[in-house]
Amino acid sequence: MELKALNLYAAVLSVLLCSSVNFIQSPTDVLGPVTLLEPTPSSARDFGSVVSDAPFAVMRPESPYEIALLLGALSSAAPSPRATVAARGAGHSLHGQAQAGGGIVVETRALLGNVQVVVTREHGDSGGAITVPAYADVGAGALWVEVLEECLKTGLAPPSWTDYLYLTVGGTLSNGGISGQTFKHGPQISNVRWVRAFYDSFEIFTGDQELLVSMPEQVDYVEGFMVLNEQSLESSSIAFPAQINFSPDFGSNGRKKVYYCIEFAVHDFQQNDSSADHVVEQVSGKLSYLKPHMYSAEVSYFDFLNRVKMEEDSLMRRGLWDVPHPWLNMFVPKHGITQFKDLLMDTVSADDFEGPILVYPLLTDKWDGNTSAVVPATADGVMYIFGVLRSTDPTRCGRACVELILEQHRRVADEARRVGGGGMGAKQYLARQPSPAHWRNHFGSGWGRFAARKVRFDPRHVLGPGQVIFPRTDNAASM
Ligand SMILES: Cc1cc2nc3c(=O)[nH]c(=O)nc-3n(C[C@H](O)[C@H](O)[C@H](O)COP(=O)(O)OP(=O)(O)OC[C@H]3O[C@@H](n4cnc5c(N)ncnc54)[C@H](O)[C@@H]3O)c2cc1C
Repeated sequence: MELKALNLYAAVLSVLLCSSVNFIQSPTDVLGPVTLLEPTPSSARDFGSVVSDAPFAVMRPESPYEIALLLGALSSAAPSPRATVAARGAGHSLHGQAQAGGGIVVETRALLGNVQVVVTREHGDSGGAITVPAYADVGAGALWVEVLEECLKTGLAPPSWTDYLYLTVGGTLSNGGISGQTFKHGPQISNVRWVRAFYDSFEIFTGDQELLVSMPEQVDYVEGFMVLNEQSLESSSIAFPAQINFSPDFGSNGRKKVYYCIEFAVHDFQQNDSSADHVVEQVSGKLSYLKPHMYSAEVSYFDFLNRVKMEEDSLMRRGLWDVPHPWLNMFVPKHGITQFKDLLMDTVSADDFEGPILVYPLLTDKWDGNTSAVVPATADGVMYIFGVLRSTDPTRCGRACVELILEQHRRVADEARRVGGGGMGAKQYLARQPSPAHWRNHFGSGWGRFAARKVRFDPRHVLGPGQVIFPRTDNAASM
């Protein structure tokens, strides 16, 4: 009965959307349980503020059933931009990936009942009941912060996070999802001891980072960033609760000086015979930072994970949140990091750069090769994320300036991607590649499997038009 109704609605919707005679007149038409709404400005906008493709209609589903209905209809519809669908979570994409020019944007945040944490109890060796995490059942539109809030009620939490928690789980998993915990897996909870140490040598900075990720029994989180100017020192300190007395000389024209900061954290509960303080002391004794510039603070687990929210609030106050964000994120094999840093610094003006440049190591064996996330081939299993997270102030950097930055990023990415002959063999993260050929190159030997999955699960290329991997064409399945 349900199935019959679904097929009927699907047929009606399909005709209305795709027939040249009975073309749907208005996105506000209601088709049984499927309501299509007029697009809003936000449905053609994302955090990147670089791409803007207005959809034909928006859907705010209250249940997965409505989405199934829509997809059922569109998968049998004639190819047309209107017959494409993009899921939109928190809309924090950088290059229109959650947009559907002329198609339909499904706003997953409208779905209700987003997070359910299911915990089971088992008997431990000593006979007492112990709590074992079973799973968190998370809806398509759940934010990571909602998952965290729900998990903490049970005293449990997932081992790996993103830095910023106001992204959806669906939106992040469609890319990967990385942070300072990514180099290891393990439980986290209670308090965190959060440490920052400054450097003036890139080689010593990265050497110490690699030392830290080689100590997963003691260290729970490792990141780091470049400090290009006073402003980047100030804005990176917003969420960090300890007073930082580091006022370095950034040099002058022609002799600019760049500094680096390692950020690591130790979780209180994990240490059996020694306190977190002792662990921090032990670990920091092995590091070669600029003495005495190491600072630490103890914060709650929630505040630590939610730290980027304070940066968001500060950027909002300064009018620098809803602005274009020409970001560049690259996974660079260890052998190429100095070359990449130099290449990047040739394109970045240290004086007025606004935003963080994250740099930290990740271990490629922690990545599941069965997913569509692509990481570079590395001889030693170590790659670095370089996240150039720039905000542009429209009063100082207009459209042409943003285009120029994007063009510089394209050149940097092209050079970093080069394999052989001294090339770095890097891979881009969160990119929208300019053409299907670039995507093939990006996936490399994984392309065949990825394309085969598309043929199997979405043969008519209805889903994800904003990624621009599989154009919606008549002979879609033969691409
Ligand atoms: C301030 C900020 C901080 C960030 N920090 C990090 C970080 O620390 N680590 C990290 O890895 N990334 C980070 N990112 C990048 C972020 O993970 C990606 O941009 C992610 O795609 C954004 O999630 P979203 O919910 O906003 O997704 P959207 O922009 O809404 O969607 C992204 C993509 O996922 C698809 N999608 C959305 N929901 C679903 C679903 N339910 N099922 C299938 N596909 C879906 C969309 O169609 C689109 O292609 C950050 C981005 C910003 C702006």
